[in-house]
Amino acid sequence: MPLQPDTCLFCRLVADGEHIHAADGFVAIRDINPIAETHLLVLPERHVDTFRDIGAFPDDEAGRMLRFVADTASVAGLSDYKVLVNVGAGGGQTVFHLHWHVLGGAFDRGKLSRALELETA
Ligand code: AMP
Ligand code: ZN
Repeated sequence: MPLQPDTCLFCRLVADGEHIHAADGFVAIRDINPIAETHLLVLPERHVDTFRDIGAFPDDEAGRMLRFVADTASVAGLSDYKVLVNVGAGGGQTVFHLHWHVLGGAFDRGKLSRALELETA
């Protein structure tokens, strides 16, 4: 699907956000509400609603996306980190443009446990 800058927040940020890394059809931005010392979001430039639709990517593009996730962590100076994808509203997804969370450094434990729904707000 083409960019949907009028309706999709992340398509807008692909077009005019502050990218900490960009290559090959993917960009990385800082999460506006970080739950860890370093909290990045990797976005494919083209709009795909959710990880459930990963089949929309040809295998080579899906592979390049994984490599870009690892490269983003490396560019941010992370060697040890978590990669998280929330899938669907029931899985905690709130923005419906596929994205990968890259989380490194110290965690805000309260926010992390709420994000993982280990406790209620
Ligand atoms: P998810 O809940 O997995 O869909 O993640 C959406 C993420 O987008 C959350 O961690 C939000 O903090 C983040 N977010 C929302 N609005 C913005 C924005 N304008 N810029 C950067 N990150 C955002
Ligand atoms: Zn989008």
